[in-house]
Amino acid sequence: RQAQYAALRDKPCVTKDGQPVELMINAGLVIDLPHIDDTGSAGIGLFRTELQFMVGQSLPRSSDQLALYRTVLDAAGSKPVTFRTLDIGGDKALPYMETVVEENPALGWRAIRLGLDRPGLLRGQIRALLRAGGGRALKIMFPMISEVAEFDQAKAIVERELTYLRQHGHALPERIDVGTMVEVPALLYQFDELLKKVDFVSVGSNDLFQFMFAVDRGNPKVSERFDTMSAPILRALRDIVRKAQEAKKTASLCGEMASKPLGALALIALGYRSLSLSATAHGPVKAMILDLDAKKAEAVIMPLLDAPAGSVSIRQKLTEFAEAE
Ligand code: PEP
Ligand code: MG
Repeated sequence: RQAQYAALRDKPCVTKDGQPVELMINAGLVIDLPHIDDTGSAGIGLFRTELQFMVGQSLPRSSDQLALYRTVLDAAGSKPVTFRTLDIGGDKALPYMETVVEENPALGWRAIRLGLDRPGLLRGQIRALLRAGGGRALKIMFPMISEVAEFDQAKAIVERELTYLRQHGHALPERIDVGTMVEVPALLYQFDELLKKVDFVSVGSNDLFQFMFAVDRGNPKVSERFDTMSAPILRALRDIVRKAQEAKKTASLCGEMASKPLGALALIALGYRSLSLSATAHGPVKAMILDLDAKKAEAVIMPLLDAPAGSVSIRQKLTEFAEAE
């Protein structure tokens, strides 16, 4: 199997009916970087910057942050990297930071909320990202945005830091794309306004599904209670990609769903052409894509989304379709 996937490395990632799919990997540490090349991926679709903060004994200095971001961009070369700003707090607590005891950490003071309330940390990180991106293209993405106004505030920090670096004579990125994760359901009801402001979005399906179904992703008693191939989820995912296409913005997906061949198949059938997944899933998912007729998959999935609740198992129908392909 491994050898079989390695043989796919240099093949263009295109479906049988000629639709290119951008397959990227998720990463967070230096040890992940060789996978950019050994998988033949299109780049890093999600770089989880919090990992550097979680593995250390103290807050990484700005020079350490800058060094890591430069190393990542150097390793990626001409391939794009989407850096997600710190997603800490809640269950991703930093041992050396004050801990706030929260009854519902997933719904708590985390990610961009903490970043906006304590802007020193976020500013420093954004400055390091902008400096690392000097003379190259840079993509910055915010986690857990739940209102358009939060995106505005976070983006204003990017602008402010750009002004600062310009005034201090630093080389600026040649191009900056600023986007957001889509992982809070409320964002779906502000999506048109959001799309006017962002350069791209990436669906964080792990959190989005946990919040849609009110099911703790870390609690095995309930985490399997819903089906990722069910109509409520697939309809939401369809609406996201449709609206993004209409607004001419890229919608990618970087949660676990993309790492499963059947999940990736469903996403491509819904219209997604950009996925970011764990490096180990790259081979199996690419093999599926090279063998997939995307138009046929679309024709199978779309009517199922509107079937009366409980009348059909979408998972079963898609599995049958995948086996017949
Ligand atoms: C997600 O929520 O789907 C996601 C990719 O982010 P994380 O798993 O880091 O919360
Ligand atoms: Mg998340």
